[in-house]
Formats: sequence, structure tokens, C-alpha cells
Amino acid sequence: MSLAVTLSRAQQGVSAPQVVVEVHLSGGLPSTSIVGLPDSAVREARDRVRVAIQNTAFEYPNRRVTVNLAPAELPKDGGRFDLAIALGILAAGSQVPRERLDDCEFLGELALSGALRPVPGILPALLRARARGRRVVVPRANAAEAALVGPADILLADSLAEVCAWLRGVGELASPEACDLDHPPFAGPDMRDVRGQWQARRALEIAAAGGHHLLLMGPPGTGKTMLAERLPGILPPMTETEALESCALRSLSGEVIDPSRWRHRPFRAPHHTASGAALVGGGSSPRPGEISLAHNGVLFLDELPEFSRHVLEVLREPLESGEIVISRAARQCTFPAEFQLVAAMNPCPCGYTDDSRQSCRCTPDQVQRYRSRISGPLMDRIDMCVDVPRVPLSALSAPPGPGDDDTATVRARVIRAREKALLRAGQPNANLSVVNLERDCALPPTERRWFEQSLEKLGCSARAYHRVLRVARTIADIEGGTGCVEKNHLAEALMYRRG
Ligand SMILES: [Zn+2]
Repeated sequence: MSLAVTLSRAQQGVSAPQVVVEVHLSGGLPSTSIVGLPDSAVREARDRVRVAIQNTAFEYPNRRVTVNLAPAELPKDGGRFDLAIALGILAAGSQVPRERLDDCEFLGELALSGALRPVPGILPALLRARARGRRVVVPRANAAEAALVGPADILLADSLAEVCAWLRGVGELASPEACDLDHPPFAGPDMRDVRGQWQARRALEIAAAGGHHLLLMGPPGTGKTMLAERLPGILPPMTETEALESCALRSLSGEVIDPSRWRHRPFRAPHHTASGAALVGGGSSPRPGEISLAHNGVLFLDELPEFSRHVLEVLREPLESGEIVISRAARQCTFPAEFQLVAAMNPCPCGYTDDSRQSCRCTPDQVQRYRSRISGPLMDRIDMCVDVPRVPLSALSAPPGPGDDDTATVRARVIRAREKALLRAGQPNANLSVVNLERDCALPPTERRWFEQSLEKLGCSARAYHRVLRVARTIADIEGGTGCVEKNHLAEALMYRRG
């Protein structure tokens, strides 16, 4: 029989659908055709594979070769199918045995010499193959990423020749060395460095415990960025699944993955001149943007009003749904984007409203225009807003006081509070649905009335009602106590709701 089948995987967003490579040899003039929606890089596999097979001391069939990549409607790009195509051709011509092809997947681009080149963004494919219980042969240059998935079912090869020797049972393929993913102590900036900003520190702790979006407002140079950078340190470590998700996204964008930061939540801080595509993702073969690279971590937008209005509006969808859909002419793909938004801004264009050291020269009209660059609907989605005022120099030089806990201490409190939320609802408080919110934050009638009146005075929307309640739930979790949401928790949550 001159038909052979090998398995590989395409890449589509963060998923890696299976591709079946069918190779048929038939009589007629010698030629090779590849069908099944290949892009130009896949069509060029024809030449790469022929030369690589010849340079590996095999014979390229002197017949008509038809390669079909199924399913046909799935777009396929890059050189990742080269190895599967080459093995299919060799198996169809009975130059390698077929027995081992059935339960194995192959990924790798071939050099003309027959050597294997790495495949970018290989992690999603490895995860899917593992879920199907199949072994995967990958280029040795992908070993570091492959090790993250767990070494058991992954085999590394340097060349087509090595893979063929293994298929014929005359050679072995090594597995990647297991890498140490135990989380080392967080080595980032410490909360101890922040002096005097007790209210902002408190807000940061609440935001961390509940996963709430936070806006820091204050004059230039008061430490807004400093605070934001310390948020990943006090967040609970990622779970195994979260770490793999985040890693898969980084793998797709071609970033180097550092196993020592495996469980640390990502922190992304795109500049305000960043384009919409850089922020949300894009490209002809869509790649994740900053919001997806911040998945399971923190997206920090400094100088929020300086971002283009269009870019900020695009953020509304992922803030609600936790994912972003990117549509291109040929395809559509979805990337996860469940990030915690931390934004910072000056109170006015010059930045010195309410500043003790310098007076503001902006007109009320200028201030109004500056603040209105952030639309109401976006502002509504930010759960907490806190002032970061200028701290007197004497406070900056004083030694750390009793309220200036370090990152490890704050993180311990955050983890305790987060565990309560997970135990109760299976998710951080920021994601509580309205139904669960009614259940977990039941208020006695008098407090409910007081709460509603306070919100009315502030002119808050219905969405704000639930957001304040979620923050109050987190404050109650941090405090411990009876476990119920009480008036003082509501009052503090309301304090973060002005503006
Ligand atoms: Zn001003």
C-alpha cells in the first residue's frame, strides 16, 4: 500500500488543533503537491522535505506524491509540518515502518541538511498531545519548553535521521530533563520600599486579595508605578494550570520562558503610545497582545488618559469576558485575557492638583477634558480608585514602622483572604456573578437601605452597586471576623468609589 498517515498539530490562537498528514504515492510523472489550505511556507515544505530526505541517505520517491493536510478548512502556516510530511513520504514508500506512527505526533521544521529546527509557540501543541495521551517528537531546540509540560511523553531529536533510526528500532530518542518548577521566593521589588502611603498600600492589598481592578491617582513622582510593580509580589502564586496557560501565551509570542519565574504572575506595562494591535493582539497570523500576556496577572497602564481613546475602548470587552476575539480576513481566533487592570493617572494635565509642593495652573475646563478621556463605561469597570498623595520628606527617610509590612507578610494575608473566597465560590471575589453575590453578601435591611442611599448620593450606576459589594466582600475576608459583610466594610468599599 502506498498510503501513509502521520499526525501533527496546527496553531490557532492558544489552541492547537490536530492535523492529519496523508501521503499517497501513485504512478505518473514524478511530482509533489501539497493540498489542504497550506500557506506559502507550508507549500515550500515540498522542496525542503525533498532535499532533507536526500541528505538523510533515503530515496525521494520517483513517483507522483500527493500530501493532504486535513482538515482542509483549517489554515496552516509555518514549517512545523515538515517532519510529519517527510515521515509520511518515507512510510508511504516503506522506507520506515509504520507501527510507531499511530500513537505519536511530530512537530519540527527541516533544514536542507535534514537537521530539525525549533517550532515557535510549541507549548499549546504539547499540552493537547499530552491530554490525548500521545507521545510527541519535537526538535531538541524546543527542549526547555517541552520540559515544562513534563518529560514523560516527549522525545527530542536533532535530525530526521535520528527520528527514522528510532522508528526502525535501531536508535533511541531522549526525553527532556525534568526542570525544577518549585517556586523560589519572590525576588521582585518589596512592599517595604513604599513609605507613608498607608491608604494606597491598603487598597493594593484589597485589590490583590479580591482580584479587583484599581486606579491610582496622584501627582507625578509620588510612587504610583512603584506601588503597581509590587502587586505581582503580593498576589497568590499561579496554579499549575494557570502557569501553563500563561506560559503557552508567552510561547506563542516568541518570548523566552524562565522556569524560575514559573508560578509568578505576569506584570505587563505597555507604554501609552502602544498601538491597538500591540495591546490586544493581531497580525496576519494572530499573536497575543499585552492584555493576553498579562493573563492571570497584572496589566499596568500608566498615564491612563494618554492612551488613545480607541485603544481604551477595546479593553472593555476583555474586561467583561476575560478573553479577546481577533478577526482577520482568513481566520478568527480567541486568546484568553483575564488580567487585573491597574491604571495610574495624574489628577489634572499638569499633575499638581492638591499637591503640597506645587500649585496647579490648569483651568477647570482643561481638567474636565483630561478626565473625560476615560469614558464612563471604562471607569465603571474599575472597582477601586485611590489617591496617592505626596508624602512629606521626613516620612520617606523614616525607618519602616509597624504598618510598613514587607511583601511576604502582605502576601500571607492576601492568600488567606483569597482562599476564603475560593472555598466559598470557587473564584476570586472580583468575578462573583450577581447571583452568587446576593448569596454571599446578604445585607440586613437597614444596612441595605443605608448602602443604597449612599450610592445614590454618589451618583453610581447599577453596575457600581455590585462592584462596591464585591470589594466589601473582600474587605470582610481580609478582616476575618464573623464572615458577614458589615457596615464598616461597605463604608470602606464606598470610599474607593469616588471620582
Ligand atoms: Zn493642573
